Amino acid sequence: MPSDARIFVTGHRGMVGSALVRRLQARGYTQILTRSRAELDLLDQAAVYRYLVEHRPDYVFIAAAKVGGILANDTERADFLFQNLQIELNLIHGAHRAGVQRLLFLGSSCIYPRDCPQPIREEALLSGPLEPTNEPYAIAKIAGVKLAESYSRQHGRQYISVMPTNLYGPGDNYDLQTSHVLPALIRKAHEAKQRGDVSITVWGSGTPRREFLHVDDLAEACVLLMETGYDGPLLNVGCGQDLSIRELAQTVAAVVGFEGELVFDTSKPDGTPRKLLDVSRISRLGWRARTGLAQGIASAYQDYLGRPAR
Ligand code: GDP
Repeated sequence: MPSDARIFVTGHRGMVGSALVRRLQARGYTQILTRSRAELDLLDQAAVYRYLVEHRPDYVFIAAAKVGGILANDTERADFLFQNLQIELNLIHGAHRAGVQRLLFLGSSCIYPRDCPQPIREEALLSGPLEPTNEPYAIAKIAGVKLAESYSRQHGRQYISVMPTNLYGPGDNYDLQTSHVLPALIRKAHEAKQRGDVSITVWGSGTPRREFLHVDDLAEACVLLMETGYDGPLLNVGCGQDLSIRELAQTVAAVVGFEGELVFDTSKPDGTPRKLLDVSRISRLGWRARTGLAQGIASAYQDYLGRPAR
């Protein structure tokens, strides 16, 4: 990407979009286009088409999405399906109409079937039934992958997709109802330590296994793919290692300095039993995750402590 390329980062106030902007700035790009929700509603098809045709970006990153943890996905099912589909349709078709040649779409590891062989290879897409708790989100993200692929095949575009594993880092959502597990555990352990509580509640059985990637590592991968002109099939992005939710809770407790008990609330869903991505495809392109989990959780904890009071 030339350093004066016009690069539109959607969702720049979110955890992924803001990491992309930081990475692009650090790499010296001077024309990073962003729009807040108030300035451009990505659900508004006419407004999105107008924006893209007027501003004619050279590159588009789709980090905008309605996202959330297991409870939000399971309860706001219609919103997850509708909003994500609409954002993707507007941005991908709009980018094509505006002549954008290169676009990167961010999917999610939950697009893969619930019970597929681990670690999950990219070929597992559409090989079996999805995990029910986040099926609407997954269906929308699968549609996004297929849109990117189809515009590339039919119209010669270079629209690529990456599938990140569970992400965490600066700008994460710490709302206990809608967040993912890692930020939720940071908050629970911190508040329990402050109050002197003897225990924290961890949802589910603690046995599901998850893989966690620091968002700055993901941003590095995405920018690298655009810089090197990668124009191939979808790519998993993960650190290549998973751990149980119980082990995660123990690690978070150690970083935060919470010494009480972990209580497992099995009335809450476990979700998919294991989600570990096979990252050999992106490894062959010269990328690997750099942030260790304990180190990453420590920096996320600092971010949590420093965030503005709400
Ligand atoms: P998932 O990867 O799509 O299932 O999303 P989550 O990050 O929300 O949940 C991952 C796992 O962590 C699930 O098995 C949850 O039940 C478990 N978990 C344990 N405690 C919590 C919590 O406080 N919040 C969330 N969101 N998940 C939790």
